[in-house]
Amino acid sequence: MGRPTEMNTIDKATPQECPACRHATNHRLLYQTNGCDIWQCRSCGLGRTQSSGFDPNTYYTGDYFSGHRSDGYSDYRAAEPVLRREFARSVEFVRGFRGSGRLLDLGCAYGFFLKEAQRYFEVSGIELAEEAAQYCRGSGLNVMSGVADEENMGRVGHVDVITLFDVIEHLPHPHETLALCERHLKPGGIIVITTGDFASPVARLTGSRWRLMTPPQHLWFFTRKSINRTSAALGLSVESCDHPWKIVPLSLIIFQLRRMLGFHGPPTAAASRVGVPVNLFDAMRIVLRKPMP
Ligand SMILES: [Zn+2]
Repeated sequence: MGRPTEMNTIDKATPQECPACRHATNHRLLYQTNGCDIWQCRSCGLGRTQSSGFDPNTYYTGDYFSGHRSDGYSDYRAAEPVLRREFARSVEFVRGFRGSGRLLDLGCAYGFFLKEAQRYFEVSGIELAEEAAQYCRGSGLNVMSGVADEENMGRVGHVDVITLFDVIEHLPHPHETLALCERHLKPGGIIVITTGDFASPVARLTGSRWRLMTPPQHLWFFTRKSINRTSAALGLSVESCDHPWKIVPLSLIIFQLRRMLGFHGPPTAAASRVGVPVNLFDAMRIVLRKPMP
């Protein structure tokens, strides 16, 4: 647990290159938590983690999804029925913008979303955690191991829909990844992103104790303004931005509450099978569309 420092008490303004604004802007150091500095662009509100020595390859292993990390998922696989129900709703949402075609899910974990999406789409996924990628392939899904780089994206080809559910904040270079996604999107195709809303009242009120303020695995903290600037630079239009209700496993709520209060250890398995609707209005769902030529 880091030493939380109140916002505004550190008045350090430093010009830094902002990947959303695409030029050097004033940044301020908001606070330090988990041994990381959290900086914010004063122009678009984009937050970033500055740390050294974080290697995603050694971090996103099977442990991340099974509750062995205090900041990972409590028991992702036990929660499959609840997650599948939520992902079925996500598929309906996506179909409101693009009804069929080829769909790619980045950071697809155990493929629960892909399983729901393949009822309407020809699906593929990319997953960094090798154990999860293997699980997907074992259940018949076309999932590649690794990250969204030129090689993996090239193997998938052009698609109609790319989804990044709670993934973009983990990426070392999210703006480059989005540019890569744009290049692999068919005209009229969409990118669907869910991520925290750093400008939301809950995020601002809770500061370094915000439930999504979990560096170093969360490296970026987006705002609507930073998303607008990023998409404009890529020639994408923002079709939709909302703060959806979500049905989450009760175990995840208990897990996050216990962590906030300083307790550790896995919650009971039964809590993984119960779904609870929640909305703190601190997470965004964004749809970006590539224009027709
Ligand atoms: Zn900025």
